[in-house]
Amino acid sequence: MKLSLAFLVPALFFSSARAAENQPFLSEAMITMAERSNYEMTSTFAQVVNVVEAMQQSTHRMHRETLLVTAEGRDVPLLVLADPPITTPSQARASGKPVIYIQGNIHGGEVEGKEAALIAMRDILYGDKQHLLEKQILIFVPVYNADGNDAMSENSRPSQELSPARTGTRTAHGYDLNRDGMAVETPETRALYQNVLQRWDPDLLVDLHTTNGTWHGYSLTYAPAYATAGDAATSDYTSQIMLPAIRDAVKAKFNLDIGWYGGFDYRDWPPTELRTYHHAPRYLTNNMGLRNRMAILSETFAHDRFYKRVHAANVFIEEILEYTHIHGDEMRRINREADARVPFRGQQASGFQNGVQFEMVPLEEPLNLLSYKYIPYTNDNGETEFVRSSEIVEIAGVLNYNRFEATTTARMPQAYVFPVEFAGIAEKLRQHGITVETLEEEIRVTGEVYRVFEVAKQSFEQNGHRNSLLRGRFDEVERLFGAGDYYVPMDNRLANLIFYLLEPESDDGLAYWNFFDELFASEMFEDTSAIYPVFKIFAHK
Ligand SMILES: [Zn+2]
Repeated sequence: MKLSLAFLVPALFFSSARAAENQPFLSEAMITMAERSNYEMTSTFAQVVNVVEAMQQSTHRMHRETLLVTAEGRDVPLLVLADPPITTPSQARASGKPVIYIQGNIHGGEVEGKEAALIAMRDILYGDKQHLLEKQILIFVPVYNADGNDAMSENSRPSQELSPARTGTRTAHGYDLNRDGMAVETPETRALYQNVLQRWDPDLLVDLHTTNGTWHGYSLTYAPAYATAGDAATSDYTSQIMLPAIRDAVKAKFNLDIGWYGGFDYRDWPPTELRTYHHAPRYLTNNMGLRNRMAILSETFAHDRFYKRVHAANVFIEEILEYTHIHGDEMRRINREADARVPFRGQQASGFQNGVQFEMVPLEEPLNLLSYKYIPYTNDNGETEFVRSSEIVEIAGVLNYNRFEATTTARMPQAYVFPVEFAGIAEKLRQHGITVETLEEEIRVTGEVYRVFEVAKQSFEQNGHRNSLLRGRFDEVERLFGAGDYYVPMDNRLANLIFYLLEPESDDGLAYWNFFDELFASEMFEDTSAIYPVFKIFAHK
């Protein structure tokens, strides 16, 4: 009896001291599976929901919506954190605050963002990060690929050496959700566009991953939404101003090195160039750039132990939100200025030339790259091989391939128009949030038609597709379109996205994703060329 009283006294004292600060206790149910298992396990979907529900019990500052109900019936939570609380997008707009959206676990085996997002939410609602709701509205989806998360097994992430022991699969029912940004073939992408981007219009999307490649020397690497056919201002701000400031804050406060995403071939040791992944908007962060919004790709370092990866992801999330807390209004202004510029691109009489295919180029400034050091040696056959040491070294003057330039361009039209039988294309554009009108009467227009001479196929397969690359030429013609045909105006803020989707030579458009292959095959069965059915309007007669 005496013993337990002795324990009770400080607990009671502590309780009243906390109550005086008006701070609720953290309950055990708010502790994540990663934390309570000493980072040997990661949360199942149900365990994520349990933590979310425990957090929701004693706050009004969190509003829960459904992102989607998955194929396997999981009701994926989307959490809106705001102070004062809100429950609708119109309240968010009326508040004038920027909206920041953070999602984890799009690749079901990359689990750090899921745990780190839950911990960040707890810090914001109950811990020392409560000020992060003063000037912004935060939306979290901790577990975006819920079905992939729960398809857990050992060694689904081989380079992580069973830390944690079991993780989910990369895909959702065979689909890589981070290649679906243009084709929109999964319920997850449809839900993201409808229930996040169109409903809440976030100024920044943060997509949380874990890389499994290069042994660089960083706790976490990042990339902006790469500037391609979009308005470059949002990407430039992210990469030149925001990310360097966050990188410096993470180093100053936590002594963690974070830096540009990229890889190199250790057989070229010492590396002279760091090369990033891909510019295409099938990747969700890049897609945001075509929508005049900012995005950050975050990749924790697979080879670190799980607790270190969760820490790095958590630090990165919270420092992003410290940045947006101070600079959110500036980001909103830059995004809105791009919204105002973009509608004019297609209306320029001279015809604005915009990129449809791109190549990776280095930034002007080379990098001092941190990397685990490789040691060359000669094997018994007299060949040079390399062994990795445990020392991290800094390599000066590495070319940083983290930017893209157009290699092929096309003219942006005033509008696109296509015949009534392509209802599927109209529906696909609408899934992106694009306005598609139906002609009420006949119009006579001049513009460009694209004649296809060859449909080349990519050598690789992704999400069940062998992507198509069209070769052909534009001809200037006059055309008649009738009532019921589809008309896609370009005098709006999504003009760059429309352009990327509908241009025939686009390296990630609807033609690339095989939406017209059957048509081309039937036309080219009898003829040497086919007509691309989407017409570009440059003038109305
Ligand atoms: Zn990933």
